[in-house]
Amino acid sequence: MARNKKDQERPLHELLPQVTLKPMGGESDQQNQGNLLAAKQSPAFPVAGGVISHALTKRGDRIMLDYTQNATSVRFEVDGIWMNVDPYDRATGDAFLAVFKKIANLNVQDRRNRQEGRFGVVFQAGQYICTITAQGVKTGERVLIKIMPKKSKLETLEDLGMREKMREQFRELINQTEGFVIIAAPPGGGLTTTWRVALTAADRFVRDFVAIEDKRVPEDEIINVGPIHYDSAEGKSPADVLPSLLLKQPDVFVVPEMVNGKSVEMLCDQVNDNHKLVITRTVATDAAEALLRIAALKPPMAEYSKAVSMVLATRLVRKLCEACRQPFQPTPQMLQKLGIPAGRVGVLYREFQPPPPEQRVDQKGRPIEIEICKKCEGIGYRGRTAIFELMVVTDAIREVLLKQPSVDNIRRVAKAGGHRGLQEEGILLVAQGITSLQELQRALK
Ligand SMILES: [Zn+2]
Repeated sequence: MARNKKDQERPLHELLPQVTLKPMGGESDQQNQGNLLAAKQSPAFPVAGGVISHALTKRGDRIMLDYTQNATSVRFEVDGIWMNVDPYDRATGDAFLAVFKKIANLNVQDRRNRQEGRFGVVFQAGQYICTITAQGVKTGERVLIKIMPKKSKLETLEDLGMREKMREQFRELINQTEGFVIIAAPPGGGLTTTWRVALTAADRFVRDFVAIEDKRVPEDEIINVGPIHYDSAEGKSPADVLPSLLLKQPDVFVVPEMVNGKSVEMLCDQVNDNHKLVITRTVATDAAEALLRIAALKPPMAEYSKAVSMVLATRLVRKLCEACRQPFQPTPQMLQKLGIPAGRVGVLYREFQPPPPEQRVDQKGRPIEIEICKKCEGIGYRGRTAIFELMVVTDAIREVLLKQPSVDNIRRVAKAGGHRGLQEEGILLVAQGITSLQELQRALK
């Protein structure tokens, strides 16, 4: 947000769109309302709203507050990249943190122990849930606020950016009667969103789905998938509740976390012997690694490699800002290196780069000011999309899993069979001008 001279005399929160803070986490509505009233007594109440409004105005979905002796530094995460914004003095920072803690029903006085809570936000007609995590550190305190829209706009694989051919293939495979399907994403890389959307792509109305979930890890509710719970705090796993489920003869088992080799083994048996479908997920950087993550739980490899049928892995990449991206002509060598057939694309795009200093002057040698793109505020990127890797497990890959399971071996054999990895899928986005080569390299690093 540009601030002119007159504006600079006014505090930031007065220049930003209003937000409404909603108390949560109390034992009762009454307690929540009491917390809100108490928070409103603080002169820092509007400043707290301003911090959230500032982040949302910049399209940030996480806020990091770092308390040091004299200052409170503030960072926003925008499209997966942290950016610094102006810090606050320590006293102001303390005062607005007390507001956040109060409306999340946390202990305001406790600056040392880890505390976690939630509060709501209404901003420009959109509703958000914020989770706040505060933890004392040597210099003071570190606070992370995650801002999530109450209603996700990402409902379909197309919304997530999956190309049409792959969507068709994925739907066909997930609607097959039997198989063992793994959904994977890197840490913090959209696994829960991909999971939810992938499951909604499966036909949940003609088959009986059952979800086996940890009581301690709340999952998004998925229509027509009733969850059965085990308690990880009691050392239980999916294997413990599976026998009682089999009487009901479900067609599809949805298992967010496999937990141990026994659970993998029992569910693989359901695939191999009873022709059921199992859908699970894991944190992994690509499909090959995902296969090995499940293998690392040590199920009997013969059964696992026989059952496993498909892996969907994903990676988030920033999209070039369409208002300021710059076209350039790739050399034939460059296209060849990228594996793009000659003549397929005339131009590629890169993020906005200001002209060199000698060109930033007018005819009389006076400096010209470079206008900052309003759409992306000069970042060069706006929003993110996902790259997907869809690996169909072939007999060749099964043999690698059995005999020499390693990420390199799986990737090599898959590639030899015509499989497109994240790199190759990402190049398709580069060729379409959706992202840049630099960004692809950064995201796949
Ligand atoms: Zn731009």
